Amino acid sequence: MRKHKYFLDLNDLQYKKVRLSLEKKLLRVVLWFAGTIAITIFYSTVFHNLFGSPKEALLNQQIGNIRLQYTLADRNMNNSLKLINSLRMSDEMRYRPVLDMDSLPESYRNPGFGGVDRFADLDGYGTSYLMKSSRMKIEEMKDMLSVQSESFSTVKDKAAEWKIEMDHLPAISPVDPSFPLGEGYRFREVHPVYGDSRMHYGQDIEVPYGTKVYATGDGKVVEAGRNTGGFGNVVMIDHGYGLESIYGHLSKILVPVGMNVKRGDLIGISGSTGASTGPHLHYQINKYGQPTPAINFFNNDITQDQFNEMIQAFESKSKYR
Ligand SMILES: [Zn+2]
Repeated sequence: MRKHKYFLDLNDLQYKKVRLSLEKKLLRVVLWFAGTIAITIFYSTVFHNLFGSPKEALLNQQIGNIRLQYTLADRNMNNSLKLINSLRMSDEMRYRPVLDMDSLPESYRNPGFGGVDRFADLDGYGTSYLMKSSRMKIEEMKDMLSVQSESFSTVKDKAAEWKIEMDHLPAISPVDPSFPLGEGYRFREVHPVYGDSRMHYGQDIEVPYGTKVYATGDGKVVEAGRNTGGFGNVVMIDHGYGLESIYGHLSKILVPVGMNVKRGDLIGISGSTGASTGPHLHYQINKYGQPTPAINFFNNDITQDQFNEMIQAFESKSKYR
């Protein structure tokens, strides 16, 4: 119940109800409306700021989803960038050094994006930062991948080249490695046949008559026949890259001049032809025409079985058996 207000009428000393004038009544109504409206505005503003309109709430939810999607995509991109970086590390730290290739200049790998904001069109959205960072990463990945795939293609070509070179390198023992080594690359005071003092340019291997002699690397037979210089029946293979291998004192020659041979191809049978006092193989390597210690070109620490396995492996690959 609304309380009535009273006042003391001094004319007749009685309390009387206060009667409001029409103006005052109107003023009250106006004030009441104004107050109500003010309170409504106040609460709706607070509510709006806190929760937004239903439509805005929906939009906010969508923006939230987009932001989440971007964040997940961003995380995926970070993982992809890590992967590209590890490929790049393998390229720089493993493949290129092994293949004796220069590393790619940093300026080529990281061309940089310059000072201009390339993604200004993405400004002004609630998710601008995320969108720009994603676009930046995508561009970065595109650049890195294109450089990396080009680099790998060069590395691949180089590796193929390198494999050809490795296949040509005279790199195995020309005979079963269980045979003992004889005279090496050294100055001899008295030559066993000529009696004078001279350099011995090859690596002798003590093999009996009839021992199989193999090509020690891929190449072309450039000499196959009787040699007047003391090698007797000799085979010489040009391996390219400035390297030749010579197999002397053979009893039989099994390849003609001009033939392309593969490492492990049977090229002759050992003997004691030429300036020789007994059966052995004279194995010599020339580098750019100059004799060089042949012992540096093969590893005799492997077992007979390992050697046979190796020869069989080569034979199965070779066109000439
Ligand atoms: Zn010799």
